[in-house]
Amino acid sequence: MPSVVILGAGVMGASLAWHLTSRGCRDVLLLDRGASAGAGSTGRATGGFRTQYATAVNVRLSLLAREKLLRFRDEVGGECGYVQAGYLWLASSQTELDVLREARVIQHAEGLDEARAVTPDDIARINPAIIGDGIIGGAYCPSDGFIRPLGILQGYLDGALRQGATVQWGVEATGVERDATGRVVALSTRTDRIAAGAVVNAAGAWAGEFARGCGVDLPVTPLRRQVAATVPTDVLPSSMPMTIVTGDGFHLRVRDGRVLLPWPTPGVAGAPFEMPVDPAWVAAVTAKAHARVPALANVPVDLDASWTGLYEMSPDKHAILGVAPGCPNHYLINGSSGHGVMHAPALGHLLAEIILDGAATTMDTRALRPSRFAEGDWNPVSELL
Ligand SMILES: Cc1cc2nc3c(=O)[nH]c(=O)nc-3n(C[C@H](O)[C@H](O)[C@H](O)COP(=O)(O)OP(=O)(O)OC[C@H]3O[C@@H](n4cnc5c(N)ncnc54)[C@H](O)[C@@H]3O)c2cc1C
Repeated sequence: MPSVVILGAGVMGASLAWHLTSRGCRDVLLLDRGASAGAGSTGRATGGFRTQYATAVNVRLSLLAREKLLRFRDEVGGECGYVQAGYLWLASSQTELDVLREARVIQHAEGLDEARAVTPDDIARINPAIIGDGIIGGAYCPSDGFIRPLGILQGYLDGALRQGATVQWGVEATGVERDATGRVVALSTRTDRIAAGAVVNAAGAWAGEFARGCGVDLPVTPLRRQVAATVPTDVLPSSMPMTIVTGDGFHLRVRDGRVLLPWPTPGVAGAPFEMPVDPAWVAAVTAKAHARVPALANVPVDLDASWTGLYEMSPDKHAILGVAPGCPNHYLINGSSGHGVMHAPALGHLLAEIILDGAATTMDTRALRPSRFAEGDWNPVSELL
């Protein structure tokens, strides 16, 4: 009987499996209904990494993840692709500047000293490709930047397998079986019953759906995110920082010789798991990009290279980490709300501590406890960052 069965072999499940097996808990089974690694959101992430958040717990998760990314090649193996190209936030109103400043107070209190305010002149120096019309200032952190989502996933997965974990692809979990005390004793799949000492829900955007079938209250919902990719081009340098329009979330970066243009839009009404690329959205985001970055005026979007994926939203846009309420050996590592790749190194480390030691010791994870919604003790929700 595997001591821990992890449902979902995306970046969260893989990170947890690596951290458990590194700590000597080698009897770990990962299950995923995908045919191979990267079937879920991890394979669709654009690969931003930032420490500039508006709550202490998110800054701490990023700082812990950053330490681990810096050691990734030596400690885990594989290429996490962490490049400190910076994250540049552009503000067009005093309200946006105030939000960035208030967040920076929290960032500095957590030791992120290099995060700083920038003037329009600074912005022109940091990213000369941007038209500064209407921009009155912003925020910048040079140690933020980029990561390789599939490199991190594969590195953790290969490492976990080397350390004794096993993975089964093409296996869909359908529920859990509990004993009279409420403890999980087995996981059911479409064809099997797998006895388990503990079960972890690492099912990304599908985690809420799976939890419902197990009688666990997990408020995670899917949210479609679209990414327009230009044709291959060298009009912008690959060293350009991630650049974000604070007011509407439009951002851009260069990846693998194309410019990526994400911009948040609503999901598909009535079909939350559907992921079409919407041509009207592509036209709108292209116009936005051309208005802000003149160098892109003759660089069309390549519809075939553009894609969509699902964020795994929690009600307060913070991860949900720990023991499922009412079920002592059913664990949750969910709801990162679009920050999951960058936080997975930290969250896997912390959940391994919770499972093996009974509590996280590296940092306080109380703000992420699954019961906070029922207790009415949400984290502050920032609409802008
Ligand atoms: C367009 C886009 C851009 C993003 N950009 C970034 C970014 O720049 N930086 C960042 O940090 N994050 C980013 N994210 C968010 C990031 O991708 C997610 O937070 C992260 O991948 C979540 O990892 P996960 O392992 O929880 O989920 P997933 O990678 O989705 O893995 C979950 C796995 O569970 C499996 N599964 C689900 N249900 C079942 C079942 N019943 N039985 C068996 N298997 C099941 C799925 O097949 C899947 O492989 C982005 C997301 C999108 C969509």
